[in-house]
Amino acid sequence: MGTEVLWGDAEIERERVKHLDAIADARRDASLAAACEMATAGGGVLAAAAAAKKRKEKPLSGKELEILESAKVVMWAYNAPLRQISTRYQRYTAEDIESARERLVAAPTTPSPPSTRGGTTNDVDAGGARGDAACEPPSDGEDEPVDLSDGLVVGGYRGLVVERAAEGVDVRLNQIVTSVSYARPGPATMDAEVKKKKTGSRFPRRCHAAAVDESKSAAWARDPGPPRCVVTTATGEKHACDYVVIALPLGVLQRRAARSTVEFEPELSESKRRAIACVGMGVENKVIMRFDEVFWPRRAKFFQCTDQRFRFLNLHAYGKQNTLCAHVAPPFGEGFDGMTDEEVLTEVIGTLRRMFKKNNAAASTRAKLLDHRVTRWGEDPFSCGAYSYMRVGSTKADIDALRAPEHDDRVHFAGEACSVEGAQCVHGALLTGQGAAAAILRACGAAVDPSALLGGDVGLSSDDADPAAFNGDGDDVGPPESWAQCAIAQCGRWRRVPVHIPAESLPDDWTCGDCHWHEGIREHACAAPQEPWPDLPGWDDDDEASVMSAKAVWNAWTHTWKKEAEEKKSGKRGHARDWLSG
Ligand SMILES: Cc1cc2nc3c(=O)[nH]c(=O)nc-3n(C[C@H](O)[C@H](O)[C@H](O)COP(=O)(O)OP(=O)(O)OC[C@H]3O[C@@H](n4cnc5c(N)ncnc54)[C@H](O)[C@@H]3O)c2cc1C
Ligand SMILES: [Zn+2]
Repeated sequence: MGTEVLWGDAEIERERVKHLDAIADARRDASLAAACEMATAGGGVLAAAAAAKKRKEKPLSGKELEILESAKVVMWAYNAPLRQISTRYQRYTAEDIESARERLVAAPTTPSPPSTRGGTTNDVDAGGARGDAACEPPSDGEDEPVDLSDGLVVGGYRGLVVERAAEGVDVRLNQIVTSVSYARPGPATMDAEVKKKKTGSRFPRRCHAAAVDESKSAAWARDPGPPRCVVTTATGEKHACDYVVIALPLGVLQRRAARSTVEFEPELSESKRRAIACVGMGVENKVIMRFDEVFWPRRAKFFQCTDQRFRFLNLHAYGKQNTLCAHVAPPFGEGFDGMTDEEVLTEVIGTLRRMFKKNNAAASTRAKLLDHRVTRWGEDPFSCGAYSYMRVGSTKADIDALRAPEHDDRVHFAGEACSVEGAQCVHGALLTGQGAAAAILRACGAAVDPSALLGGDVGLSSDDADPAAFNGDGDDVGPPESWAQCAIAQCGRWRRVPVHIPAESLPDDWTCGDCHWHEGIREHACAAPQEPWPDLPGWDDDDEASVMSAKAVWNAWTHTWKKEAEEKKSGKRGHARDWLSG
């Protein structure tokens, strides 16, 4: 038990110290524990209260000290000890709340929430520790105040996000990835170079370059070959693919457990490795208990106590009969001091009985435990912890580096640790995942419709989220792309070629029916309308009527073939992959 995942003596700790030594001057930082000690701004209200009391020469009573220490755990130290958490965490949280407040006041409408089958109730802080994210912008009478506090997902995430995100995707469960490699195929690049010299231009004569970012398009033109990634699993299976999204937990990227470690070939960049080492992976655990009767207040949603190890979520109030969930903070919650489940339960229930012995003595001693579940996320080799935290010495730049794609933008990264606004949380994992997917789609030349995403454009970069680009009237967004013209004279329509397909590789007699990267155009062939795009020959910005009608025709057709594809999918799943496979 607990031997499979390395914590204190892991190589990652030595690496972290090495990285921080190298940048010690630029990264001067203090822990929240030190900040509280000094009663500086980092300690906030709590430290100020303690300091005020001190000034009056009246030391805090034992009980007051206990409450103060427990409050620190609730506010900050729920997944890592205070001495390991950077003061920057408190500052960034405050900045986030401030900017969210400004955005909400400026534009009070928020994206409409996704329809849910899971169901949420937003009157409780499910983490029990993130209540500080709640804020109400000042109302000027017209704007409804927006509640930014957490919600409790009572029906699980399956219906809420998982099923919707996995729609049409070929998901293989229980596959352990052991390596992700990336290589540019040499010969294809050589061929392209030779062809380019022959034609004397970046693109062959019959392809119209609608590239907008000259520096980027030049880079792609230099290397138009299709680079390939290979994902290898523990059974030796190899999956060749154009792009990879790595959504591994930070603790796994930190190589804390041999069983889940993934090798990258070539090695990840210096900034990525530094970020992986410097950002912290914390541990929080839960002890879920069902009793034969309720001996705590039935309606209260959350109980706090002065035992710093525990906080309690009253699941009984949410329809889970006679059930309580203890959130267990480190250091005890990290590995439960090596205790067995039974020993852990004795500790938790002992605290509970002491909490309620006054107002419900008989029931609290009489109540019998029916079932229980003790989580051990720190010891799970495929989690290596619960979720990330801003460790002393890490900065926002590390989070950006964690999220940045590697290997010529073929290997993308997502997950809660890659998120600034959604760090530690499910929405951070979801939004960074959608952001990575959108970036890949755009790189393939496909437009991203933000309204089709959970949370709208919240997690997208400004380029990926531009609705103008989706409607075909953006003129300065998106990756460089080229276009191919149908060889059938009566048609002559231009079709967008995604970046991973070298335009040079298309034959001279290429027609709309050969558009293998776009299912709709391939099937409808020359009957498919031409996508409206300002840089294409024949486009006249001044002719508003024809521009409008071209867009209307294209949008209507897009809608039709997508519906067709969906209907077909009900018989044949997984077609969405065809879209991307060059
Ligand atoms: C006790 C506890 C309380 C929490 N409370 C809240 C809360 O109140 N609110 C909130 O929003 N969030 C909460 N979270 C955090 C939330 O669960 C995470 O932020 C979220 O699950 C992160 O999603 P992810 O996709 O980044 O990583 P994960 O959900 O960890 O997914 C990573 C996946 O990678 C897989 N994997 C690992 N190694 C390999 C490998 N080698 N090959 C293949 N697959 C691999 C794992 O099996 C896992 O399925 C809590 C977490 C814990 C543990
Ligand atoms: Zn055609």
